[in-house]
Amino acid sequence: MATRSPERILIHAPYGRDGAVIAQVLERAGIVSEVCPSVPGLCEELSSDAGAVIIADEALRSSNVEELGRILNSQESWSDLPVIVLTAKGDPTDWTRHRFRSLKPLGNVILLERPLRTETAISASETALRARRRQYEVRNLLKSLQEANAELTATNQELEEFAYAASHDLQEPLRMVNIYTQMIIGQAMSGLDSETRKCATFVQRGVKRMETLLHDLLRFSRVVHSESPCATDQCLDDAFRESLTILRTRIEESGASITNRGLPRVLCDQAQFSQVFENLLSNALKYRKADRQPRIVLFSEKRGNHWMIGVKDNGIGFEQKYAEKIFGLFKRLHRDEYPGTGIGLAICKRIVERQGGKIWVESEPDRGSTFYFTVPEPEAH
Ligand code: ADP
Repeated sequence: MATRSPERILIHAPYGRDGAVIAQVLERAGIVSEVCPSVPGLCEELSSDAGAVIIADEALRSSNVEELGRILNSQESWSDLPVIVLTAKGDPTDWTRHRFRSLKPLGNVILLERPLRTETAISASETALRARRRQYEVRNLLKSLQEANAELTATNQELEEFAYAASHDLQEPLRMVNIYTQMIIGQAMSGLDSETRKCATFVQRGVKRMETLLHDLLRFSRVVHSESPCATDQCLDDAFRESLTILRTRIEESGASITNRGLPRVLCDQAQFSQVFENLLSNALKYRKADRQPRIVLFSEKRGNHWMIGVKDNGIGFEQKYAEKIFGLFKRLHRDEYPGTGIGLAICKRIVERQGGKIWVESEPDRGSTFYFTVPEPEAH
């Protein structure tokens, strides 16, 4: 079967000689066209690409308008096929006005009054084809974007798998390195000169740091690898309590006061949100001002169809221009002064976004920070 040109103009003008004449005019202008004697035939042709449609008004009974409208309305998002309707000569009457309004379901309609001059037919067809060509360009662009997106998703997935496998599988050999270096250094320490002892301490520190990094990386990868979130409706309260238990010693040592002004009952994954609270509270404790008792306040607010939770501290804060950056993997502002891996907030972001929310921060140096995150309100059943 011959391939159909995506720029062919489909003509449906079954009464008189209009159809054949227009086809001849277009052919002379170098425009490919195809005469469709019936509306079902025209509809069938529309299942392949076409540049435009020229249709005689008298051929459009209301059932035909409906059928064509259905096809034209189901076009893909990039497509808006131009439809040129040839109207009868004469001043508009109530009936013709009503008639033209009834053609609205056909979408991108251009009305041309007969008798049609050759130049008018050609220029209207060329304009329609030009618009159609632009639509094809958008289609191609969309297609390449979708392909690039799919490729990126696949690559991302591979990287996720790699990070997960690497952080998981490297733990065991590192544990061995840790145990045996400790053993060797422990046994030989007394016989080592001070320079070698210093080196031995660096080795131990390095191994410890790698262990922490791998542990946090694994936590980060697990957010994606965990089963789909299992939701319980006391989740935030329970998650918050769980994080307090985990951080109890650090809270007591720092003398921090933690006030919970109320968390909403929403459906979410407790284990994951416990990590969010743990990271945010642990940072509020870590980045505290040395001369100030740490005060941390939790609060919540209903905003549209989601809840916003805030965790406010009175710590060292930072300049607001870094507010987005710190949610990136390995991004740290206080690199040398405080221990850390730069993974905690990236984990929070992953968890919150995975459950349909957002996370952000407002901060000022010396005046503390407030981290906000949202959790969607469960749909009413
Ligand atoms: P880590 O604390 O391990 O460095 P995070 O991802 O938890 O990693 O935080 C990233 C960076 O954001 C931190 O290194 C710190 O510079 C900054 N930060 C996070 N929380 C706070 C906070 N409550 N106050 C001040 N700075 C913070």
